[in-house]
Amino acid sequence: MSDTINTNNPYNGEHIKTYKLDSKVVLNKKLELANATFKSWKLLEISERAKLLQKLADELLADKDSLSKLITLEMGKPITESKAEIEKCAFLIQFYAHNADQFLADAIIETDAHESYISYDPLGCILAVMPWNYPFWQVFRFAIPTLIAGNVALLKHASNVTGCAIAIEKLFNKSGFPEGCFQTLLADHDTIEEIIGNDIVKAVTLTGSEKAGKSIAQTAGKHLKKTVLELGGNNACIILKDADLDKHLDTIVKARMQNSGQSCIAAKRFLVEEEIYDEFLEQFTKKVKALNYDDPFKEDTNMSCLARPDLADILEEQVSKSVEKGAKVHYGNTRGDAYYQPTILTNITKDMPVFKEETFGPVAPIIKVKNLDEAIAMASNSRFGLGTMIFTKDYKKASKKVLAIEDGAYFINEMVKSDPRLPFGGTKASGYGRELSKEGILEFVNKKTIFIN
Ligand code: NAP
Repeated sequence: MSDTINTNNPYNGEHIKTYKLDSKVVLNKKLELANATFKSWKLLEISERAKLLQKLADELLADKDSLSKLITLEMGKPITESKAEIEKCAFLIQFYAHNADQFLADAIIETDAHESYISYDPLGCILAVMPWNYPFWQVFRFAIPTLIAGNVALLKHASNVTGCAIAIEKLFNKSGFPEGCFQTLLADHDTIEEIIGNDIVKAVTLTGSEKAGKSIAQTAGKHLKKTVLELGGNNACIILKDADLDKHLDTIVKARMQNSGQSCIAAKRFLVEEEIYDEFLEQFTKKVKALNYDDPFKEDTNMSCLARPDLADILEEQVSKSVEKGAKVHYGNTRGDAYYQPTILTNITKDMPVFKEETFGPVAPIIKVKNLDEAIAMASNSRFGLGTMIFTKDYKKASKKVLAIEDGAYFINEMVKSDPRLPFGGTKASGYGRELSKEGILEFVNKKTIFIN
């Protein structure tokens, strides 16, 4: 087995850098350091931790250009989207710096005791296994609430964004966080599974594929450790006949194509009411054709390569198998190495991979439905449960369907998106637990009952 990680620029295939995996000795030192740091970190006032967060947000924004370039270099995202990702991280940091105090305040509960309340205590060292698609955002949305709650963090990042993983650790240190508060581990899967069993690690969170989620949760379960899983999605985007396309079409296209289609919460199945189907298909296609596919470093690029060539292989196979089953290629479907052309498919049936499976790239299956009820039934016909979005002028009619949607989110006249102020997470094969908002900060705390008589 290799003891190195190689990173490559997916746009041109050039090798970027080789990293040596951490030795067992180094990993043990990191675990011990995390454990030692936790003992003092948990005693700091939240307001003191919040000051460090503010510094972190400042450092992040000061380094925005170089960090954005690193994201784009390693995973091929258009540079404007990399910059937006860094800005969103700063917003998240400020949100928790301002609100953590209130989220973690003792919750007084009236009982027959003289005094009783819940104390939200940190758990200790939390391990995060993270993906490459938003290499800063995914890490920060875990790390910020986790750290301000008094825990310490270990990161095992996706191998193809190892440069980002190291840059994030440096940012924490540069901002004055005590050494050991946030550490990056360079380790393979087997080693990570071993580390989950180490007593110092108290809980694990994973954002990634269903396969990885099952594996990590199984290991954590064996050691009785809590997990939060943010896995894949196959979100439906319902367009009713009264949808305001002039107003929302750009959002609908973005819902599928942003990050070159590599987003868990992307719209992956378009369910269009029959009366508006032809008009929608025509207008959607026009917008997709107008997307500027180019070098991700150019400021006017809004589509670029996928993060790795094998991701294009998977997409190609999903599309080919669907075409064998009768899907029609309405637009696109050519590929280069890591490049997959935005693709629109019609004539979709429920047995096709592009309907049943998650497509992690710019492929849009467009499906005709008779009415809202059929749309909801088809949206729910999925193993995944991350979110559903619906576009209609009749938001009251759409609101009546809240209970019928089993997903973690239901967005009306907006694409499903994450916001630090709102909880984020899924149901079914999309995982469990929540990140962001007050719900997210309470995932990795001991909700301790205090009873004083
Ligand atoms: P992946 O293969 O599951 O990788 C995600 C992370 O897990 C990487 O750091 C990977 O490391 C690591 N990993 C995988 N198996 C592991 C194991 N057995 N032990 C330890 N670590 C392991 O995911 P991907 O295919 O690159 O990413 C795309 C998937 O992530 C999609 O399904 C997408 O929907 C999902 N995702 C979900 C969310 C969400 O918030 N719900 C957000 C983003 C992405 P290596 O890189 O070293 O293999």
